[in-house]
Amino acid sequence: ESFTVMNLSRQIMKGLTKLGFAQPTPIQAKTIPVALLGKDICGGAQTGSGKTAAFLVPILERLLYRPKHVPATRVMVLCPTRELAIQCHSVGTKLAGFTDIVMCLCVGGLSIKAQEAELRQKPDVVIATPGRLIDHLRNSHAFAIDQIEILVMDEADRMLDDGFEDELTEIVRACPRKRQTMLFSATMTDNVDKLVRLSLNKPVRVQI
Ligand code: AMP
Repeated sequence: ESFTVMNLSRQIMKGLTKLGFAQPTPIQAKTIPVALLGKDICGGAQTGSGKTAAFLVPILERLLYRPKHVPATRVMVLCPTRELAIQCHSVGTKLAGFTDIVMCLCVGGLSIKAQEAELRQKPDVVIATPGRLIDHLRNSHAFAIDQIEILVMDEADRMLDDGFEDELTEIVRACPRKRQTMLFSATMTDNVDKLVRLSLNKPVRVQI
């Protein structure tokens, strides 16, 4: 199988080629077609499975197919660590390299003022760690997540293990109810299940 059967746009196909991704990995083959339908996803997958592109491809397709004429942050991706967020941002920037979609990285260790200025421009996609995102939501009036159309929680089990349950709950509640949500987790613990019940609506379960 190849990405060709997924009917992706030319720009995204070019991005995949640039990344050197010719064939979808199993998680991509299972997730992308379902996510393109707008369904919520509960994915069981580890780092290294290719799940970053599994959620980024359908996200970018939606942004391309339903353009907005007023700038708005429409997608929020939450990652457990700064390193994973940086990696996700790097894949996203390459995948979106032939589009005008703007990505913003929002993690600790970068200047909060500079990030605030970036967020004020309403980048289409914000890739964040929960702690830093909460800092912005609580302390800055420059940024809101009331226009989010897609919320991704990557490595949900790790974010919960790291004690971010309250932050995740606050973020989920601050997002519009009508949205698409994708949650990925290597393990399905009781805590993850609780987050699934809070945040997902009739999720399609994808396991590799
Ligand atoms: P991830 O699990 O998303 O962090 O991806 C793990 C690694 O697999 C990364 O180094 C990606 O660049 C690579 N990768 C992801 N999808 C593909 C693909 N379809 N073809 C080849 N490599 C891929």
